[in-house]
Amino acid sequence: MQIDLYGGFGEKGRTSVGLGDAHTRILLDVGIKVGAMGRDYYPVIEDAAIKDLDAVFISHAHEDHIGGLSWLLSRGFRGLIFMTRETLGEAAEMLAQYADPSHVRDFPIHPDQIKLFSPGETMHVGQFKIMTGRSGHVVGGAWFHIDNGHGQVVYCADVTPGSSVFVMDPVPRCDLVLLDTSYADDAISGLQRRMQIENWLAAHPSGCLLPVPASGKPLEIMAILPGRFAIHQTMREAIATQILAEDAFAPATRDLLRQRLATAVDWSDGSPFPDCPLLTVDGMGSAGPSVDAIRRASAQGLPILLTGHIPDHTPARRCFDEERATWIRLPTHPTRDENVAIWTGAGRPAALGHSCSQSGLRDLQAFLPKLDVNAVTGDHLAI
Ligand SMILES: [Zn+2]
Repeated sequence: MQIDLYGGFGEKGRTSVGLGDAHTRILLDVGIKVGAMGRDYYPVIEDAAIKDLDAVFISHAHEDHIGGLSWLLSRGFRGLIFMTRETLGEAAEMLAQYADPSHVRDFPIHPDQIKLFSPGETMHVGQFKIMTGRSGHVVGGAWFHIDNGHGQVVYCADVTPGSSVFVMDPVPRCDLVLLDTSYADDAISGLQRRMQIENWLAAHPSGCLLPVPASGKPLEIMAILPGRFAIHQTMREAIATQILAEDAFAPATRDLLRQRLATAVDWSDGSPFPDCPLLTVDGMGSAGPSVDAIRRASAQGLPILLTGHIPDHTPARRCFDEERATWIRLPTHPTRDENVAIWTGAGRPAALGHSCSQSGLRDLQAFLPKLDVNAVTGDHLAI
């Protein structure tokens, strides 16, 4: 089986991996890279390879995994698009924010192209058997295990083994695992990080701004907010939909989140900031209501807490660099020890890491001896 690293290797963003043999070619995710310009915004897959694809599998609707889907269609992709119902539900919004508007307009997803699946299902494309499991990262998020009869590859996509709200299924054994190394060798547990955030929130009782992505993280944060909080009014329906998802949560967590959402205050653009934590989308200030909210909060001196990845050339990064925002990671990717556990569970196979710089991979390699720290976007390998 040939593995084509089209994006997200030695870098964070535009995550995309091709798998192929003489009979079948599939693509796993097609993300964009926030902060990159021109062709670098998209995966490095060539047009001829795009036209050859039988299918693309989308792990979840974050921009670094789905943002290039309309672009892929504009370059001639005509295969099947596998995603979960929840991912499909968030796809249009994400593409509206991160895709080229002319691609969205001129190359809509044809309903016949879409094949819905639920994490836990097994699918077949040509010679490939594709098993899936829950990622623990967002509602409807999935990892993939691909078997062509000669080799087995696990693509973790984004996974959150230590989520306080979502469930992640263990990944099966394989010959090669593509790990989510977003956090390199960061060993601080989710529990410790959540305590740091609770302390920060307690120290800012008269209001603060928390920019977040639309899915996943809002629920993680809602679970630890100590009291009254506000959300941008457009988030309520999306969060309610995520809470409805079957199987994503332990039952008690679902009830807690439902209660928390019922007490949340609706906030709208331009209104005075509330005297409680306010959640707005997105997490980088590069799209959605966060663009204006971060600008105003920053001008008014409202405390801002960033909890996710803050790429260069984004408003969130500028606020952080100018010390107008605090950053405390709320883990939605594996810590060092969690990645070691995933790799061990997969049978200690050869490993690649996506969503991480090469220096970050070298740090992690001390704990994951079979991690390839040299593979970068544009490389091709075989198992
Ligand atoms: Zn993600």
